[in-house]
Amino acid sequence: MDNIQTQLSTIDKSDEYGPFDIIGDVHGCFDELVTLLVKLGYTFEKGNKIQVSHPKGRRLIFVGDLVDRGPNSPDVLRLVMEAVWSGIAFCVCGNHDDKLKRKLIGRDVKVLHGLKETLDQLAKEDESFNSSVVDFLNQLVPHYVFDKGRLAVAHAGLKEDHIGKDSPRIRAFCLYGQTTGEVDEFGLPVRSPWAEDYQGETLVVYGHTVVPEATWMNNTINIDTGCVFGGKLTAFRYPELELVSVDAIQIYYPEKTAL
Ligand code: MN
Repeated sequence: MDNIQTQLSTIDKSDEYGPFDIIGDVHGCFDELVTLLVKLGYTFEKGNKIQVSHPKGRRLIFVGDLVDRGPNSPDVLRLVMEAVWSGIAFCVCGNHDDKLKRKLIGRDVKVLHGLKETLDQLAKEDESFNSSVVDFLNQLVPHYVFDKGRLAVAHAGLKEDHIGKDSPRIRAFCLYGQTTGEVDEFGLPVRSPWAEDYQGETLVVYGHTVVPEATWMNNTINIDTGCVFGGKLTAFRYPELELVSVDAIQIYYPEKTAL
């Protein structure tokens, strides 16, 4: 819940019209991300799988959860950081990104749900990379609004009256969605289906809850197709409203521990 005031003005990207390719939860699946970007027409600097651009000027929006569980969170971070800092991409904060940030700045965070994999991978990187990761994670916003309010992107969800606003409550909703306070047979929070009640005119694109296929509900679409659990990595093209996916190379994490 840091820096809410300083980040408020940056939620509004109304004057950014796209076209965009919105990417679901990556969770360290770097190889699948590169394959998906190539399939979407992005090109990489010769011999460098980090610096990405698109010949037609398309740009990327990541729904967050770049890290944890998967095999290569540092290179995912490296690619996305470079793309965000060079104006090719936007990225909203996922609950895993937020938790990694809090761990890296010394907060008391339980190392669960794939965070250990990321910390082990980051331990092999140099100090300057790790400090640029903290800078990057610190500047992530809970949601963005694009295209004169026609499109919003949040990690876990967004209610109509949240759009363009920020508060600790809204931020928690963006990161975790709406939980009912109950837990399921695995001890995980039961999620309330906010999208079923959504009546907004703004299209909300989000991830967080794994679905076998990208799922439309009212004017929302969930594009987390569980790549790290052996599903696929999905992109949603805007304004075309088309889906492009690549299959996971393998199962990196057992799905029943998803959170
Ligand atoms: Mn996720």
